[in-house]
Amino acid sequence: MSDFVTNMIGAIDGVVSATGKKFRPLHEPLFVGNELKYVSDCINTGWVSSVGAYVDRFEKDLAAYLGVKRVIAAVNGTAALHLCLEALGVGEGDEVLMPTLTFVATANAISYTGATPHFCDSESETLGICPQKLDDYLANISASNDKAECINKKTGKRIAAIIPMHVFGHPVKLDELIAVAKKYNIAVVEDAAESLGSSYRGKMTGGIGLMGAISFNGNKIITTGGGGAIATNDEELANRLKHLSTTAKTSKEGYFFHDQVGYNYRMPNINAALGCAQLEKLPEYLKTKRKIAELYKSAFSKLDGIKLIEEPKDSTSNYWLCSAILDSGDNLNSLLEETNKQGIMTRPLWNLMHTLPMHQACPRMDLSVAEDLVQRVVSLPSSVNLVG
Ligand SMILES: *Cc1c(COP(=O)(O)O)cnc(C)c1O
Repeated sequence: MSDFVTNMIGAIDGVVSATGKKFRPLHEPLFVGNELKYVSDCINTGWVSSVGAYVDRFEKDLAAYLGVKRVIAAVNGTAALHLCLEALGVGEGDEVLMPTLTFVATANAISYTGATPHFCDSESETLGICPQKLDDYLANISASNDKAECINKKTGKRIAAIIPMHVFGHPVKLDELIAVAKKYNIAVVEDAAESLGSSYRGKMTGGIGLMGAISFNGNKIITTGGGGAIATNDEELANRLKHLSTTAKTSKEGYFFHDQVGYNYRMPNINAALGCAQLEKLPEYLKTKRKIAELYKSAFSKLDGIKLIEEPKDSTSNYWLCSAILDSGDNLNSLLEETNKQGIMTRPLWNLMHTLPMHQACPRMDLSVAEDLVQRVVSLPSSVNLVG
């Protein structure tokens, strides 16, 4: 092991050793509030499934927290993203822009609709889609049709939407991205799965684009076991989302009636109960996350060649998953191997989406920044219970 790697492990260990535990996972949930009380309430009353007071309360509480008009709770973040695209009428013959540097769920949600993912490069400051590079690229490859839709000149397909993702909770440059999207008449759906509690220029992520999808999977900043939600300020879209998520159910002459193909994507009450309790804890968790980030930052400041990835300008990150960037990728594998051997769980970035087998034929721009980042970024243990 090189001195460089030994020193890095020493720095990381200094931050994560406070728990006294042998194994330090990347991220584990913490239940120290009203979780048991609210979940017991569901069981005692029998309201455990897809209708119930906790679902309504979770949606209201979350809408108030995000500062949006409406929230629609869903079974998971992937389903939430899928619903957003369905509500926009995205489907076969369409392309949807998305970062190559993301979790596979972003691409899957696009593929479920029959549309094709179209991959964009990141910038190193935010790890998210680079607005300038996107603008230059679209100027080159797109044209407007007689319905003012954005058409990919090479494939002839409509570029219907863009899904920027806030990587590890760090907000992308949304104002710039929204301006580019507007210029080319492309709808913006935020993948805010990782960024609940992050804000960009004073506004909560997930509530800034036309719609935003959030995840409450077990590894996210707060969890409902499994779950997701969509935030929007558009009432008409909200109604459509709710309709689509509840098997497109209406009533006709007093009986249930289904007026189109819908989905069973509604969050169950028992999960929402967990969510209500977790949401109460979110402000506290955010403070702890920031503290963990500060500890890593100060530990790395004494070393050469490694830096904590910090919140971008104009934004406040939830620091969901603390990550560091190495000056050179030479030590990444050795660092990953040694830390995991010692019970300190670390991970590289995701395999870039354009490298996965099912995406070989998908259109893409130059992806050199993401390809560089993937060689040099490492995610670190970031659970709220790491520090007291
Ligand atoms: C977690 C995650 C999702 C999907 O959320 P699930 O609730 O697991 O379906 C989508 N996009 C990103 C970037 C994520 O990290």
